[in-house]
Amino acid sequence: MKKNARFNTKLIHAGVEPDPTTGAIMTPIYQTSTYVQEAPGVHKGYEYARTQNPTRNVLQQNIAALEGARFGIAYSSGLAALDTILKTLSPGDELLSTNDLYGGSYRLMRKQYEKYGIKFKFVDMTNLDELKSQLTESIKLIWIESPTNPMLRIIDIAAICNLVKNHPAKVCVDNTFASPYLQNPLNLGADLAYHSATKYLGGHSDVVMGLVATSDEQLAEQLYFLQNAAGAVPGPQDCFLMLRGIKTLHVRVQRACDNARQMALALQNHPKINNLYYPGLLDHPGHDIARAQMRDFGAMLSFDLKENTMAAANEVLSKTQYFSLAESLGGVESLIGHPASMTHASIPKAERLKVGLSDSLIRLSIGIEDEADLIEDILGALE
Ligand SMILES: *Cc1c(COP(=O)(O)O)cnc(C)c1O
Repeated sequence: MKKNARFNTKLIHAGVEPDPTTGAIMTPIYQTSTYVQEAPGVHKGYEYARTQNPTRNVLQQNIAALEGARFGIAYSSGLAALDTILKTLSPGDELLSTNDLYGGSYRLMRKQYEKYGIKFKFVDMTNLDELKSQLTESIKLIWIESPTNPMLRIIDIAAICNLVKNHPAKVCVDNTFASPYLQNPLNLGADLAYHSATKYLGGHSDVVMGLVATSDEQLAEQLYFLQNAAGAVPGPQDCFLMLRGIKTLHVRVQRACDNARQMALALQNHPKINNLYYPGLLDHPGHDIARAQMRDFGAMLSFDLKENTMAAANEVLSKTQYFSLAESLGGVESLIGHPASMTHASIPKAERLKVGLSDSLIRLSIGIEDEADLIEDILGALE
């Protein structure tokens, strides 16, 4: 691949070379745990599969290229990747994050890492003054998520990176909701791009995986060290499926974004809907920032109902044909979810109401089916 290859070409070619022994155009699945050595210490660069696996190496080079990074590191899940990043912190260090963080990230931080003496602060990151007021010297990591789940708020990544330019804190962006097709955090000044690759990167709801990209050599060294030392690695079959999924990322995500735009237009001013959350709407508070830092507005959309009860939401959820009731997102098929009783059930009601996550809030992950069928499905369920 040429150095100046464009994003859509990188998806298909970055890191991928025909297999030198057979010419196989697809990266083989090296389903092996160990590698034969000619003599002790004399080998082809591979000793043991926790440390190195050729299928995984290709994937790691691929994600690095997609995020414009020097290094890519793969983990067995998004949360295993977060777990590893948190291990780079020391007791007394603090992490600053957003107050509507992905629930699983929040849980790992508060329930596991607080007891190791790491402190966590959660602020409204759309308010830069609030963020600034919390920015002490002990903050070593800033964890941004944008767009956020499920309220689809947009956080100004470049503005925050600029704000902490002369501060020791590293900035990591959970880029799961956008995918590298829509947003590249390193280009906006972040140190780390983080993905639950389970979602858009895999794209077919058949793999759980985490991918991290960085150009910071010291950080990369720590992350590779922990990948091997703690061993939360993905298997070669999963790496193969991830590489296959990534090849169509641009086609899938663009189509899903187009479908989401049509859906938003169809739901705007619907008599049963109270608030419609989609960053592509001109009156969305993060619209201009999204326009500046994303290629399109994503394929996640949420809304709540004028009849603001769980029962009213349940009625809608029970009536869809193509939108399957399930957690997760980012697959080719459309999903519908009820955050208050599903992904965010462990968050106290008063807390979730503060960020606008009401009882009737419904979240859609728009897939790549025919948009007319998807719109009919939701409009029918709302009737
Ligand atoms: C799903 C998700 C995660 C966790 O990733 P897993 O692959 O499920 O471990 C982290 N952040 C966001 C935004 C997610 O949607």
